[in-house]
Amino acid sequence: MDNAHESKHFIEDIIDRHNENGRFDSRVKTRFPPEPNGYLHIGHAKSICLNFTVAQKYGGTTNLRFDDTNPTTEETEYVESIKRDVQWLGFDWEGEARYASDYFEELYEAAVKLVKKGVAYVDDSTSEEMAEMKGTPTRPGTNSPYRDRPVEENLRLLEGMKNGEYPEGSRTLRAKIDMASDNMIMRDPVIYRIKRVPHHRTGDTWNIYPMYDLAHCMSDSIENITHSLCTLEFEVHRPLYDWILDQLDYYHPQQIEFARLNLSYTITSKRKLLNLVAAGHVTGWDDPRMPTISGMRRRGYTPAAIREFCDRVGVARRENLIDVALLEFAVRDDLNKTAPRYMAVLDPLKLTITNYPKDKTEWVEVVNNPEDESQGTREMPFSNEIYIEHDDFMEDPPRKYFRLKPGGMVRLKGAYIVQCDEVIKDEYGKPVELKCTYIPESKSGEDTSGLKVKGTLHWVSRKHAIPAQARLYDRLFFEENPTADADRDYMEFFNASSLQVLDTIYVEPALKDAQAGDRMQFLRKGYYCVDPDSTEDKLVFNRTVTLRDGWAKK
Ligand code: ATP
Ligand code: MG
Repeated sequence: MDNAHESKHFIEDIIDRHNENGRFDSRVKTRFPPEPNGYLHIGHAKSICLNFTVAQKYGGTTNLRFDDTNPTTEETEYVESIKRDVQWLGFDWEGEARYASDYFEELYEAAVKLVKKGVAYVDDSTSEEMAEMKGTPTRPGTNSPYRDRPVEENLRLLEGMKNGEYPEGSRTLRAKIDMASDNMIMRDPVIYRIKRVPHHRTGDTWNIYPMYDLAHCMSDSIENITHSLCTLEFEVHRPLYDWILDQLDYYHPQQIEFARLNLSYTITSKRKLLNLVAAGHVTGWDDPRMPTISGMRRRGYTPAAIREFCDRVGVARRENLIDVALLEFAVRDDLNKTAPRYMAVLDPLKLTITNYPKDKTEWVEVVNNPEDESQGTREMPFSNEIYIEHDDFMEDPPRKYFRLKPGGMVRLKGAYIVQCDEVIKDEYGKPVELKCTYIPESKSGEDTSGLKVKGTLHWVSRKHAIPAQARLYDRLFFEENPTADADRDYMEFFNASSLQVLDTIYVEPALKDAQAGDRMQFLRKGYYCVDPDSTEDKLVFNRTVTLRDGWAKK
């Protein structure tokens, strides 16, 4: 993996070749071309990182261009979220964001030019008739009865389409290429369609909209893109792009295809993610379980971790399924270095220290981040009543159990060694309180007790602790590849227990002023961040990712 890290990938090899043969005068200009019909997800992050870092490496620039050719599904809300996500990931596009809709006029002129050249025609066939005439991969298509319309008639009909004279679906403009082509895409593709729908930017100026195939290659050309990076499914469209640009005498960018990023235990399709949102299976596009950039941000993932993940995954020509554990590893690795540590007890069990003065509060010093000395230390209040985790106590433990047991001793992190003298249980036999004694001369940093204990527990002082809520997230789907089987509904694999809410956890008072978005490690428990649902009265913490190992084991 580290090799892939340093060596060049196949796209860089292609750029090197172009730089050697002078194809683009050593220029590198890429673009990220989202359709504003949903929020960006981890797959888009991959494409963003690739486009921006390749250009940066060669001293080039990257455009952000919205492929807004379908007014039915596109919205300004999505445009704003996409801009925000790209910037949050740490990238900056060249100049203003661009829009395919900026080129609608030029695209229409191009369509007229194709008609005048006799290589495009208006077809009155219904979509069913067109599908029928399209043929199959093994059977050539048949020519439309409208294919040989005279140029003048085509021009008049195209203008009528533009002026809104015909109903939706009644006519299309098609490129006249080859109905017998081995490549189905080349069998007279539709390049303009009637749509009487207002557009989020052009309003009701247009009654017809260009198809993606026409708009995409022309937008790349108009913007002087050199390397147009896209996913593999567009490979079969490349001959069509070349055909269009040739017919119009337009400059040719080089399209290069790479494999989509697929992530295990989740889905990366805007349409399917939209379904989850619309059906209320998640709370929104930014639900922390979502593989969207906004979901990952809310969950506490860092831009650096996502960039590192995309870099490690690399670029390939073959489809594969990347283990979500690799993403979680990158997040953990980054947060381990940067996140300050705090103590929080998620499943509280009261522990009373019988020989500690009742009214005393002692402030003990603890390290903020053992991985980063510059983060300094803080003080935590210690008193006679504290909370520890329920599962840090066992009444009848196995042999090598180093946490607390009747008669056993543990160190309370940063404070004292305590010994468990008595277990108080409820009517069902469940421990509800431990009575302990502490060893006064065992204070951390000045321990003269001579005692050796193997377990160290996190804790919070009962009267100083702040109650809060924790939201624990699990994988959104319990099947590794929920969309692998096209005959099965991926919702069959939806993990209904992917969210667990702990309504009363206790966190140390240093977190009193924590702000939405703050990230931290809860010692021995995992990485967390403050959710925007937090109020003055109640903090809400999202579990970003668990720790691989608790330090109790070490
Ligand atoms: P979706 O299927 O989720 O709607 P899309 O490809 O239709 O994805 P676009 O907005 O058209 O979404 O994509 C913008 C860019 O991001 C395109 O260049 C596309 O190839 C790329 N992209 C989308 N999904 C992935 C993915 N899973 N891995 C890598 N690149 C992707
Ligand atoms: Mg798309």
